[in-house]
Amino acid sequence: MASYDVALQRREEIAPGTFAFHFARPTGFAFKAGQAVSLALREPPAAANSTRRTFSLVNAPFEPELVVATRVREASAYKRALTALPIGATVKLTGPLGRMTLHEDGARAAVFVAGGIGITPFMSMLRQAIHDRLRHRLFLLYANRRAENAAFLAELQALARDDDNFRLHATMTATDGRIDEETIRNFAGDAAAPIYYLAGPPEFVTAVGEALTRLSVPNDAIQSEMFYGY
Ligand SMILES: Cc1cc2nc3c(=O)[nH]c(=O)nc-3n(C[C@H](O)[C@H](O)[C@H](O)COP(=O)(O)OP(=O)(O)OC[C@H]3O[C@@H](n4cnc5c(N)ncnc54)[C@H](O)[C@@H]3O)c2cc1C
Repeated sequence: MASYDVALQRREEIAPGTFAFHFARPTGFAFKAGQAVSLALREPPAAANSTRRTFSLVNAPFEPELVVATRVREASAYKRALTALPIGATVKLTGPLGRMTLHEDGARAAVFVAGGIGITPFMSMLRQAIHDRLRHRLFLLYANRRAENAAFLAELQALARDDDNFRLHATMTATDGRIDEETIRNFAGDAAAPIYYLAGPPEFVTAVGEALTRLSVPNDAIQSEMFYGY
């Protein structure tokens, strides 16, 4: 697998404690929307297991930069070091990694279910699908504790307003409770032969997967990615 030195161009806080990191895209680096990269620090902190992490790319393949987003937990020496990286410093990027990419059959709907920072691969998939005017119907069920924690929410609301093919439901677990069979049925019950894509903390992905099984969704219509460490 190819590796590249990539320079940090910009960093921004996109929700409290959640940061996006923009890197220069190396010539020849190709990936599919939904894929991830591994970012290794050149001078990792001494703490064990602090050299590299895997992050989904938030940007779509048609966009010029490479962008990842993460929740910075104080307990993570890797993330503290990434957040302190000077603009212009480089990290070693390896990739692309991962197989969670949009299915080709446009007659089947895509139902994305994101828990918190699990939104990242779906940003890339949505931006690319809308850019390419794919005919897939796209549904996004996006769970956060509160609206202020929901990264990219304003962009998603604008996309849903402008594109009849894309339906968004942002749910706040602090007030609306957890996603269950009824939430899924009410939101995407009319989706044609959907493929479900799940991403977020392991506990979230497992719970949504179990709800889908209770709704008799076959395993081969579910793809998922667990973000360990949350
Ligand atoms: C394909 C993919 C895409 C991802 N995309 C994102 C993203 O866009 N944004 C983001 O914030 N995070 C993403 N993650 C998760 C990310 O790689 C980190 O694990 C996470 O951010 C937590 O890092 P941390 O340093 O805060 O926690 P850590 O201190 O690293 O804690 C992680 C914990 O999970 C455990 N763990 C790690 N891997 C596994 C495993 N395979 N099985 C079981 N336990 C394991 C470790 O032992 C450790 O205890 C992605 C992971 C994958 C696999």
